[in-house]
Amino acid sequence: MNILMIGAHQDDNEFRCGGLAHKYVKLGHNVTFLSMCNGSGGHHILTPAETVATRAKESAKVAELLGITYDVWDNNDCSLVADLETRRRLIRYIRKVNPDLVISHRPNDYHADHRAVGQLVQDASYMLIVPHECPDVPAMRKMPVIMYNEDHFTNPDFAGDIVLDMDDENDIKLEIAKINVSQVFEWLPYTYGEEVPEGEAERWEYLKGMNITAETTDEEVMAAKRGYAVRNAKTAARFRKELIERYGEERGSKIRYAEAFMLCEYGEKLTDELKAKFFPF
Ligand SMILES: [Zn+2]
Repeated sequence: MNILMIGAHQDDNEFRCGGLAHKYVKLGHNVTFLSMCNGSGGHHILTPAETVATRAKESAKVAELLGITYDVWDNNDCSLVADLETRRRLIRYIRKVNPDLVISHRPNDYHADHRAVGQLVQDASYMLIVPHECPDVPAMRKMPVIMYNEDHFTNPDFAGDIVLDMDDENDIKLEIAKINVSQVFEWLPYTYGEEVPEGEAERWEYLKGMNITAETTDEEVMAAKRGYAVRNAKTAARFRKELIERYGEERGSKIRYAEAFMLCEYGEKLTDELKAKFFPF
């Protein structure tokens, strides 16, 4: 299968669906990450041009670690708009990748770039099969299934339609975070007003956010403030009911880390057959 994950920035796919991406690669499927923005706005010391170059190197390392294709478009951060030109660029791009499954942002999101990506994916969806739209690239014969990454916006609420066990992927997701030095150890801590520790071991603990064991309760996880292991642990705690429904009480109640996805109604219908095909985990 071809799987296309479309984020606004070079950490959106990584942290929201990086575990799922790795699961697909392990099964022999092709995974492509597209970042529609180039990272230009994401630093407080480096110039925009230096930040773009640094992010590109970090993303190349992520691609190598995961075994995926990674494309970064030349749109500057905080400038992406859902206009016709960008929609057509996206239609052509998606047709060339020819995905079975697309995962992206919801258009309900705090960040204008995330909103624009969500809107662009929705706007492109039906046009993918319309031959007279962008006739220079052959139209798809069938729309891909489209799903949204987890977010925390409530109006309307995010639904955990598919919630997956990511216990096996927590380490690689921390490795991904570690690669994104300019983002994870420099820019984001600056925006949060956090001090980042020196030293390899201390930085690993900082990345995790808290030490999560078999005894850690969902309440403790939900009370934790930050961290990349915490982030996926919060998803497991938030969707405990869905995990138990999917995996049964015994396994579902013990899962520490998860990723969650919501169905977009504008792609191919996610039948039970397609659910089994896309999410055999
Ligand atoms: Zn983002």
